Amino acid sequence: TAFVEFDAVSHAYDGSGNAIEGIDLKIREGEFVAFVGPSGCGKSTFMKLCTGLQFPTQGAVRVAGEGVAGPLKISGMAFQNANLLPWRTTLDNVLLPLEIVQPYRQQFRKRREEFVGWARDLLETVGLADYADKYPWQLSGGMQQRASICRALIHRPQLLMLDEPFGALDAFTREELWCVLRDLWQAQRFTVILVTHDLREAAFLADTVYVMSRRPGRVVERREIDLPRPRP
Ligand code: ADP
Ligand code: ADP
Repeated sequence: TAFVEFDAVSHAYDGSGNAIEGIDLKIREGEFVAFVGPSGCGKSTFMKLCTGLQFPTQGAVRVAGEGVAGPLKISGMAFQNANLLPWRTTLDNVLLPLEIVQPYRQQFRKRREEFVGWARDLLETVGLADYADKYPWQLSGGMQQRASICRALIHRPQLLMLDEPFGALDAFTREELWCVLRDLWQAQRFTVILVTHDLREAAFLADTVYVMSRRPGRVVERREIDLPRPRP
C-alpha cells in the first residue's frame, strides 16, 4: 500500500499558472525516492503539498492514509542550510523536536534524561559523539548537516523530507554523508523524499528517481534504480 499518494494533483499559487500539473504517484512505506529537475520545476511545491504547507488546487494528496502529514508530527525535515539554532549546543539542537512535537512535548521534563540518551545515540551514529556540547559555529558545514539530520530523525518520523541537504558541501563530505544517510535509512526504514540537483546523488541513494520538467512542473520520467551500490 502507498504511504504517499498523489492522485492527479495540480497546484497553482494565487494569480499564476500551474506550478505543478497532473502529478500521479505512489511512494511505498520505507521507499527512498529522489526528485530531480531544474530550479522552478516544482520540487519545493511537491514537498509543501506532502507536509500540508500548501493544499492542492486540484486532485488529492494522501500521506499515511490521511489528508496530509502534519508538518512535524510524522515527518522530519532537513534543508540545504542546516539551520541550527546558534545559541544551542548540538545536543540541544537535536532535542528540539522533542520539545515541540506531541506526545514527547508533554513528557519532555520527566523523560529528559532518556531523550538525551536518544540524542547521544544518534549523534554517535553520525560520528558527532564528541561534539554534543559544542555550538554550531564550532562545527564544520558537514558536521552541522549531520546534526540537522539527527534533529530531523530524533522524534522517529515515518517520513524524512530532505531538500538539497548536501548542496552546500564539498564533494568529499557529501559522499561521506550519503553513506551516513543510507546507514540510518537501512537501520530504521523510514520513507525518504529527497530533492536534489545531483543526479549521482539520486542514483546512489534512491530506490526510485522522479525526473521533473518545468512550466508547468510535471513528472517526465520515473526510474527504478537497481544498481550495485558500493560505498563511494
Ligand atoms: P523548485 O523547488 O523546483 O525550484 P518551486 O516549487 O519552488 O520549484 O516552484 C515552482 C513554480 O512555482 C515556479 O514557477 C515558482 O516561481 C512558482 N512558485 C513557487 N512558490 C510560489 C509562491 N509562493 N507564489 C507564487 N509562485 C510560486
Ligand atoms: P520501535 O523501534 O519498535 O518503535 P521504540 O521506539 O519503542 O521501538 O524504542 C526502541 C528503543 O529505542 C528504546 O530503547 C527507546 O527508548 C529508543 N527510542 C525510542 N525513540 C527513540 C528516538 N526518537 N531516538 C532514539 N531512540 C529512541
